[in-house]
Amino acid sequence: MCFPQIRTSPELGRHLVASRNIDEGELILVDSPFVVGPRHFIPAVCCVGCCRKVDHSKTCRRCKWPICSNACQGLRGPASHEDECNILKTVLHACSYCPDHYLMALRCVMLQTQNPEMWRWIEEQFPFAERGKEG
Ligand SMILES: [Zn+2]
Ligand SMILES: [Zn+2]
Repeated sequence: MCFPQIRTSPELGRHLVASRNIDEGELILVDSPFVVGPRHFIPAVCCVGCCRKVDHSKTCRRCKWPICSNACQGLRGPASHEDECNILKTVLHACSYCPDHYLMALRCVMLQTQNPEMWRWIEEQFPFAERGKEG
């Protein structure tokens, strides 16, 4: 695996620069998100497992955050709701103002333990991650 460098320039804006020569026809980018969660600024209640819009009639039995069903695939498996559930059950009331924003922030922070290689890459590429280390 090789990670491209992120650069900015007046004519290109923010862009990627390859870290090695690329063969013609070679697959150079598979884009997947660091984390997945509810969209900001959408005032809908979302399932914490799969982010589908729900009506809050079903909740996770442990943390009480909304779910689509107990069979939701996003509630189980690696990097799933299981890891965050223990934290969410302690902050349900504190996050009643805008819970979806806290959920995305929590999922980003949890990358430090769930995917340390990705977290190191983020720290190297994005200055906002470095600011947290100084304070
Ligand atoms: Zn779901
Ligand atoms: Zn839960």
